[in-house]
Amino acid sequence: MNDVIVIGGGLAGCATAFYLARDGVAVTVLERNELNTQASGSNAGSLHAQIPHDPFVNRGSEWARNFAPTIGLLRRSIDVWRGLSDTLGADLEVSLKGGLLVATDNAQMYAIAAKAEVERAQGLDVRLLDREGVRTLAPYLSDAIVGGAFCPDEGKASPLAATLAYARAARALGVRFERHAAVTGMTGTRDGFEVTTTAGVHRARRVVNAAGADAGRIAAMLGMEIDVQGFAIQVAVTERVAPLIPHLVYSAGDKLTLKQNQAGSILIGGGWPARWHSRGHPSTDPVSLERNMAVALATVPALGALGVIRTWAAVVNGTDDWKPILGEVPGMPGFFINFFPWMGFTAGPAVAQIVASLVQGKAAPFDVDLSPFLLASV
Ligand SMILES: Cc1cc2nc3c(=O)[nH]c(=O)nc-3n(C[C@H](O)[C@H](O)[C@H](O)COP(=O)(O)OP(=O)(O)OC[C@H]3O[C@@H](n4cnc5c(N)ncnc54)[C@H](O)[C@@H]3O)c2cc1C
Repeated sequence: MNDVIVIGGGLAGCATAFYLARDGVAVTVLERNELNTQASGSNAGSLHAQIPHDPFVNRGSEWARNFAPTIGLLRRSIDVWRGLSDTLGADLEVSLKGGLLVATDNAQMYAIAAKAEVERAQGLDVRLLDREGVRTLAPYLSDAIVGGAFCPDEGKASPLAATLAYARAARALGVRFERHAAVTGMTGTRDGFEVTTTAGVHRARRVVNAAGADAGRIAAMLGMEIDVQGFAIQVAVTERVAPLIPHLVYSAGDKLTLKQNQAGSILIGGGWPARWHSRGHPSTDPVSLERNMAVALATVPALGALGVIRTWAAVVNGTDDWKPILGEVPGMPGFFINFFPWMGFTAGPAVAQIVASLVQGKAAPFDVDLSPFLLASV
């Protein structure tokens, strides 16, 4: 019998398995496909610490206050990212040169300043910049930018490398990975859980649900409802160029994140909706692509000279209030959830350490108040 079964071979699952195994726990990871083939391997690689601007503007200050404690998890996780390449013995292309949220008019600047106030109250370093300040820091930006906010802790890392590096390190510590083993059913037993997959049956004392956008379906197997969803969104990537953009850039005018990866390509996204193909998988929406490129070009004019070489769509795990769901499910001892919506790439390393500690009944690391993220009841 395993000590722990982890369901899902994305960043949440592989990182949780690694931290458990590092503490000597016997773990099996069950993955429906190959490892790192869903959100964790297809995201845009931004390391975010700030409140996303779009929901801040559209959902208002009460939403922002409710979301604010999440900043603590993101900040702690970025601290883990700083040393993660060394920890895992792999180049994860981590670069933390700061995030820059830019405005093209005074109304946007006003919203940026209001958001910065909430963020600073959570201990985040956010510096407001006027037109000159932005120009000096980021000469690649359009002359139409009137100001912005700089958050020095933010940056980027490689989604292609991180989860697989966790998996390799976990395997070296004895973790078993069962790929092409889709979990189809689960029941509670006298001393744990019996988990049925398309490839066989596994038993364990404890189970961690790290199934991303499918976490609700896994929870439903034990008769519990958790309100999580999957949304199809898309990213585009340009041909490679010489170093141009050291920062993670956001626009306060419309949805945008852009950054240059280590290979020299610019990744352009920001959560633009993709379509659902009739066969059930997400596919790029050309209308979203056009609008995404327009805001990117208006922010960094030099992008006009570059060709987009690839776009892709993938499913991001979301919750309506944008808050994570972590820890043991009340009334279901031994069943844990590791679900971090929308920005789970950033949060993965810290949240996995937290969940791995909770699974072992140990105090969570990082001195973060977890109460906003624990399920009160089901
Ligand atoms: C296009 C896009 C861009 C993004 N950009 C960013 C970004 O820049 N920065 C950021 O911080 N976050 C970003 N995100 C969000 C981030 O990628 C996710 O929040 C994070 O990767 C979630 O990790 P996970 O391990 O929980 O989920 P996943 O990576 O989706 O892994 C879940 C795994 O569970 C498996 N699974 C599901 N059901 C079963 C089953 N029944 N049996 C067995 N296995 C099962 C799946 O096959 C999958 O491999 C983005 C997401 C997308 C889609």
